[in-house]
Amino acid sequence: MQSNSLVEADRRHLIHPVAAYRAHEQRGATVLTSGKGMYLTDAAGNELLDAFAGLWCVNIGYGQESVVAAATEQMRRLPYATGYFSFASEPTIRLAEKLAELSPPGLDRVYFTLGGSDAIDSAIRFITHFYNVTGRPTKKQMIALDKGYHGSSSTGAGLTGLPVFHRAFDLPRAWQHHIPAPYPYRSPVGDDPQAIIDHSVAQLRAKVEALGAENVAAFFAEPVQGSAGVIVPPRGWLRAIRETCRELDILFVADEVITGFGRTGPMFACEAEQVSPDLMTIAKGLTAGYAPMGAVLMSEAVYAGIADGADPTTPIGHGGTYSGHPVSAAVGLEVLSLYLQGGILANGQARVPELAAGLDALRDHPLVGDVRQAGMLGGLELVSDKLRKTRFAPGLGIADRLSQAAYKRKLIFRAFGDGTIGLAPALSCNADEMSILLDRLRATLDDVL
Ligand code: PLP
Repeated sequence: MQSNSLVEADRRHLIHPVAAYRAHEQRGATVLTSGKGMYLTDAAGNELLDAFAGLWCVNIGYGQESVVAAATEQMRRLPYATGYFSFASEPTIRLAEKLAELSPPGLDRVYFTLGGSDAIDSAIRFITHFYNVTGRPTKKQMIALDKGYHGSSSTGAGLTGLPVFHRAFDLPRAWQHHIPAPYPYRSPVGDDPQAIIDHSVAQLRAKVEALGAENVAAFFAEPVQGSAGVIVPPRGWLRAIRETCRELDILFVADEVITGFGRTGPMFACEAEQVSPDLMTIAKGLTAGYAPMGAVLMSEAVYAGIADGADPTTPIGHGGTYSGHPVSAAVGLEVLSLYLQGGILANGQARVPELAAGLDALRDHPLVGDVRQAGMLGGLELVSDKLRKTRFAPGLGIADRLSQAAYKRKLIFRAFGDGTIGLAPALSCNADEMSILLDRLRATLDDVL
C-alpha cells in the first residue's frame, strides 16, 4: 500500500526537480522504499525493473554491500575533512590519484564537486580564471551543442541547449552560444557519417569565426547527448571536434557525466576515439549514486596556467565545504573497484550485444522512428508518422502515457517530452534481466499504440 500520508506530505512540501509542479501534485509521487540489484520496490509493493539506473547513475545496481561497508567505515573513522587550506583525507587523495590513472592521458589534476552541475560550473570558473591570468582576458565566449545538457546551475544552465531550462529563466547568457547537434536521424545533410561530421566541424568553425577566436574560450560537448534523447554522433565526430578545437586554439571540455565509467563501453567515451580533452567533467557513475560527488579533471597546462597565474601566492577563490568529501570518496573508490576488480564493467560489455539486438528488433514497431545505442545507453525516438518522422507534440502527453504504461508493466525508463525513450540499465544487469527488460519494453510500446 502507498502510504497516503507520505504522498500527501510530498504534495505539500517537496519540490521535485524538472517536474511540472502542479501536474505532479495532482498525480502524486511514486514513493520508492528499497532496491536490490536491478529492481526497485515502491510503497505500493510493486517490484519495478529499473532500466535507467536511477538517473543514469546506479551503474552497479542497488544494494551493493561492500559500498555500504566502505561508507560506514569512513563515516566511523573520519566523517569529514576539509579540503580547504592544506588539509586532506586519504580516500580523497587516493580517488584523485585513481582518476588521474584511469582518465584519458594528461588529465592529472582533479577538483571534486558534489555532482555534475557544479562540475560544469567549476569548469566555467576555472576556464575564465585560466584565460584571465594567462594574459588572454578577451577569451570569454563558450559554445555548446543544441539539445546538450550541462546541468542547471545558474551559469552552467546557459550551456544546456534544452529550451525548458531557459523558459522564464532569463539570467544573462550573452557569452554562451550553441551550434546544432550532430543528429543523424534528423541531419540536414543526410545520414552519411562523414558528411555529418564535416557539417558539424564547419558549424563550429563558422561560430568561432563569427565570434572571433580571440574571444572564444571553450567548446563543451557530451560524447553522446544523453538528455537530448540519447543522440549518438557518428564515430569520428568526437575526434574531429577535438582536433578542430586545438586548431582554433579553444579549450575542449568533454562532459562525461553520463558517458563516464563504462556507460558506452570503455571507462570513458573519449577513449574510444583516443581523445584527450583539456578538461573533463564527471559525476553519476563515479559513486554510482550511492553518495553525491562529481569532479573536474584538467590538463597540466590548464592547471599550471591557473597555479602560476598573475599572482601565484594568492589563493584561487573557488571551492565548497564538501569538495572531496571523504565518505563520497570512500564510496567512489569502492565503486571503481567493483567496476574493475569486481567485473561490473566487463559484465556491462557482455550485455551490449543483447541490448543492441533487442533495440534493433524494435525498428519495425509502428511507433519507433529511430533506434540509437552506444554501449549500455539506448534511445528509441517515437514518432506519430514514421514516413514523415513526425514528432509527438511537446509537453507531457506522450511522455506521461509512456511512463504510466511502463509502470503497469513494472518497468522504469526515461520518457522525454517528445516521446523519446532513454535506457541506461545498470552495468551489473544479467542476461535474464536484460531479456525481461526488452520484453517489457515491447509490451509497453504495444500498450501505448
Ligand atoms: N552534464 C550531463 C551530461 C548530465 O547528464 C548531467 C545530469 O544529468 C549534468 C551535467 C548535471 O549533473 P547533476 O544532475 O549531477 O548536477
